[in-house]
Amino acid sequence: MDPVRTAELLSIGTELTVGETRDTNAGDLARDLTNRGVVVGRISALPDDLEAVTAAFAEALGRAELVVSTGGLGPTPDDLTREAIAALTGEMPTVDPELEVWLRDLFERRSLPFPETNRKQAWLIPSATAIPNENGTAPGWYVERPDGRIVVALPGPPREMRPMWDGWVLPRLAERGLGRPITSVTLRLTGIGESAIAARLGSLLDAGSRPMVATYARADAVDIRIWAHDETAEPGSASGTGSAAEGVAAVERRIVDMLGDHVWARGETSWPAALAAALDARGWRLAAVEVGLRGALLALLGEGLADRLAFGETLVARPEPHDGHRVTLEHLAARVRELGPAEVGIAVEARERGGDTAVTVAVVTPDGTHRETRVVFLGGSLGRGRAAIAAAAILLARLR
Ligand code: AMP
Ligand code: MG
Repeated sequence: MDPVRTAELLSIGTELTVGETRDTNAGDLARDLTNRGVVVGRISALPDDLEAVTAAFAEALGRAELVVSTGGLGPTPDDLTREAIAALTGEMPTVDPELEVWLRDLFERRSLPFPETNRKQAWLIPSATAIPNENGTAPGWYVERPDGRIVVALPGPPREMRPMWDGWVLPRLAERGLGRPITSVTLRLTGIGESAIAARLGSLLDAGSRPMVATYARADAVDIRIWAHDETAEPGSASGTGSAAEGVAAVERRIVDMLGDHVWARGETSWPAALAAALDARGWRLAAVEVGLRGALLALLGEGLADRLAFGETLVARPEPHDGHRVTLEHLAARVRELGPAEVGIAVEARERGGDTAVTVAVVTPDGTHRETRVVFLGGSLGRGRAAIAAAAILLARLR
């Protein structure tokens, strides 16, 4: 059987269509499927309406080989995903004895009476296999259609859905044949905007070019993703074309030649992870003080740096002059470095300027002292967040 190449996702629940709950499930699933070389053609959100949900399943199955839904598996009458799939397949749901025992046992163990409404969580149709749920009362359904297409129904709560997807559904789909090998590299850039990157990349960004190249503006970086499907897995593909990995590597080299000064990481690296690696490479620890950032720098470094952060302090304003001398950021950086004690001291000050934020950074390392000012877009908390990232970028450059 050919591997599954196309998918659509349905996010079911009126809480989504009225904006009470953010749909994080579909994005998570889309990312996993895309990384496995499955093309996700559409993501739809639907209210708890039997007709709408049934029609959405039918339409999605008309376009895609795999349809994954989340939500609508609760015990209440408004949860209608099972009913919709039963209507779609024309099969009658019946209470599965094994599932019912499991479900009743969950309630008994908590000494709770078993609500009859929950019985429908033990339903199955003949073409469905139950997907065990270790974190809730709603098993999922894995349904194989006569034409080989697949419907997967998972519960809405992410903490139930995720383990079922990772632990049961993905391995099952992998066995069945899922996607095609994909080679992908992400370059993380700073200090340059998405449009300036696009101008430099030129035709590399054209739709249909191979490998494919796309840019994504994120809070902590502009990412450039380079990826290609492995053509050797493509039946009937022309032999002699370079492998996906070679093509991706060649384009990565071209991009690094053009924009290398701005590339601070590869893959999913975060700022604290990049800084932690750079500190470890030198065997150094860090002491930091921020002025006027309201915690933005310490929040950014926070968890990720762990015990490599020997000292961290937030000041509302620069300290008063000392012995008639202005306290410079270099003084502050040297001071926290002593207090750490740490090999590296950094002092960062942010000031709103016009609608933007000016950020000045002083870094003291065993190699010397560096001072730099940058202006980042916007003021307020967005500006402070960007100021913290600019400081991290300046620090990383000093460590490498
Ligand atoms: P369910 O009973 O399966 O319909 O799902 C119930 C709960 O799961 C909802 O109240 C939400 O808190 C959560 N949920 C449902 N759909 C999603 C989604 N697409 N993304 C994130 N959370 C969701
Ligand atoms: Mg629901």
